[in-house]
Amino acid sequence: MSPVIAPIASEITTENPTGSLRSSADQTVQKIKQDLRMGREHQEGRINWITTIFMGAFHVGAIAALFFFSWKNLAVAAVMYFLAINVGIGMCYHRLLTHRGYRVNRWLEAFLSGCGTLALEGGPIFWVATHRVHHQNSDHEGDPHTPHDGTWWAHAGWILSGRALHSETALLGRYAPDLTRNPIQVWLSKYHWLPLTIAGVLQAILGAAVAPQGHRVIGAVSMVLWGTFLRTTLGLHATWLVNSATHLFGSRRFETKDDSRNSWWVALLTGGEGWHNNHHAHPVSARHGLTWYEFDINYYGIWLLEKVGLAKKVQIAKFDPLNPKPAGI
Ligand SMILES: [Zn+2]
Ligand SMILES: [Zn+2]
Repeated sequence: MSPVIAPIASEITTENPTGSLRSSADQTVQKIKQDLRMGREHQEGRINWITTIFMGAFHVGAIAALFFFSWKNLAVAAVMYFLAINVGIGMCYHRLLTHRGYRVNRWLEAFLSGCGTLALEGGPIFWVATHRVHHQNSDHEGDPHTPHDGTWWAHAGWILSGRALHSETALLGRYAPDLTRNPIQVWLSKYHWLPLTIAGVLQAILGAAVAPQGHRVIGAVSMVLWGTFLRTTLGLHATWLVNSATHLFGSRRFETKDDSRNSWWVALLTGGEGWHNNHHAHPVSARHGLTWYEFDINYYGIWLLEKVGLAKKVQIAKFDPLNPKPAGI
């Protein structure tokens, strides 16, 4: 059974233990499924202007950054990219919060979740609920971003012209009841733009401080262009490639019920998320690269946390390269 539906069904069964109410429970589950049908036919029709304007502004800022290269700016952008995409999205939003592939204490979880908000991919409840719906309906009706609805739709169209579900916390929360019970996750979901804004202000201060006299303003602006606009834009496309490219291009080790594929170059950009066929076959595994040559930076980070005693119950897929069993069916 999908880990998504389990908490919903059990909640309802507990509230309605008698057989006579079972059909109403079934109807409720059906209703929830319909509410969150996220495929193109259920969502398209209007542009989400706020998201589109922000995305446009970040792309303009990313191009502007190219005129202000410096090694300091590059270093800040690289650190921010690692914190947002590897630590925040890969290690936390995806492998920790969505799939519970390992456990950390609540303070570390809060810090890692804060890193996730730096990617401009929404708060944890939106991200986790959307991704759980993706696993439930992968490449079938209701998948929020399947290439069956078009390559551009799978990449960015679903964000720009889909329903703005960011604010529908109550609805999304049904797919992430574990997060809606946690006040820190609820707060981060509401104010997901705040850590990114604070990080931008700190970059401006740092950029001004390390610039020579008389170049303080350009130092501040250029560091924000690199540390926030360029690296965020690159991070968004890297993540979106997991939704588009790894359901289109690459090899399939496992006969999963979806079109997921393993893509080394998407894995390179995302720190291991590109081993997407492995992941759909073994969604709870904290490790996505299943052989020594399938580099998986995000798993190495989790491995490190485990070695220093900060990560527990790390789930690892059992995989025999000589006998790769079909999985996820
Ligand atoms: Zn997928
Ligand atoms: Zn996943």
